Amino acid sequence: GMAALGTAAILISMAGCGSARSQSESSDAKVSVGISMPEQQLERWQIDGNNLKKKLESYGYSVTLQYADGKTDQQSSQIQNMANNGVDYVVIASIDGTATGSAAEQAKAAGAKVIAYDRMIMNTDAVDYYATFSLTEVGKMQGEYIVKKLGLDSGKKGPFNIELMSGSPTDNNAKYYYQGAWSVLEPYFKSGALQSKSGKVPKTVDDYRSIGIDNWDQQKGQNEMENRINSFYSNGTNHLDAVLAPNDALARGTVQAVQSAGLGYYPIITGQDAEQASVQNIVKGQQSMTVYKDTRKLATSTANLIKSLVEGKTPETTSTFPNGNKDVPSIMLTPVSVDKSNVKKELVDSGYLTASEAGL
Ligand code: BGC
Repeated sequence: GMAALGTAAILISMAGCGSARSQSESSDAKVSVGISMPEQQLERWQIDGNNLKKKLESYGYSVTLQYADGKTDQQSSQIQNMANNGVDYVVIASIDGTATGSAAEQAKAAGAKVIAYDRMIMNTDAVDYYATFSLTEVGKMQGEYIVKKLGLDSGKKGPFNIELMSGSPTDNNAKYYYQGAWSVLEPYFKSGALQSKSGKVPKTVDDYRSIGIDNWDQQKGQNEMENRINSFYSNGTNHLDAVLAPNDALARGTVQAVQSAGLGYYPIITGQDAEQASVQNIVKGQQSMTVYKDTRKLATSTANLIKSLVEGKTPETTSTFPNGNKDVPSIMLTPVSVDKSNVKKELVDSGYLTASEAGL
């Protein structure tokens, strides 16, 4: 009615002044967003991709969603294609945060805004924003769970045997997850209350790659843990008390390793992502905990960030995060520690999983 006519009149007059290009154009040319996800093997990236696409489409934007099958080159060329097709925004969850840098630069040069999703894009000025969950907090929750379950915080002296793994060496997140966990566990290693029979303990936090599992691959994690169990914990030699598994895929690999090595009991096993299969393992008592990162919130925050930019506003951010070149304005969401005792409250009552998906 009248309001619409009024808006049109304003747009025409602004166009007439030769200004406000993006405002007037947005009425005919849709805002377009390209989403580049690392792979579809893991449940979480499928959920992330779908949530983000739905949310952005609900704002009237056109969305291209692509998965890169865990291959760095494939991801870079997908991003380049999006840039060539003139997308206004690219949202990238990198396989290799350093390798993605040049594709991000090409997208930027083609006029797109670049948003790093969950994982930082390293060593480039091309990243405009970053949205993730507080990374060190995730690792701290894993470390604190182990400390609490072993009774170390209430004076138990051990020594307890723990085995440590970290995530993909090419994923910047892996470092911060390990850093968070190590900040909690290190004092107990120092006092001798914790030890690793395998000796696989990075000398410094920066050395976390020495216990990294390529591509966070579940099978590789399983092989690694099977080797360690067979060499150091089989036949009642040493008791394996805990495993720091940095995500659910590697937690499931650990559960498999425990089973195939015939350990006969489950150590404390940490995780991350609240994936269905892992939540079911938690309910069954095979995995101990997971760190729940509500991907609906990450998708919504990212979509709202883009919406702010479309509307010409400065998006709300919570902090900045370094990528080696600059401090990137960032949204850091809060993760939640989940074990058997709060699966229902956190995951089912919040609608993240149904009771049967959670194995309840
Ligand atoms: C993500 C985790 C995920 C892992 C493996 C990390 O960067 O933050 O949620 O489990 O990658 O895909």
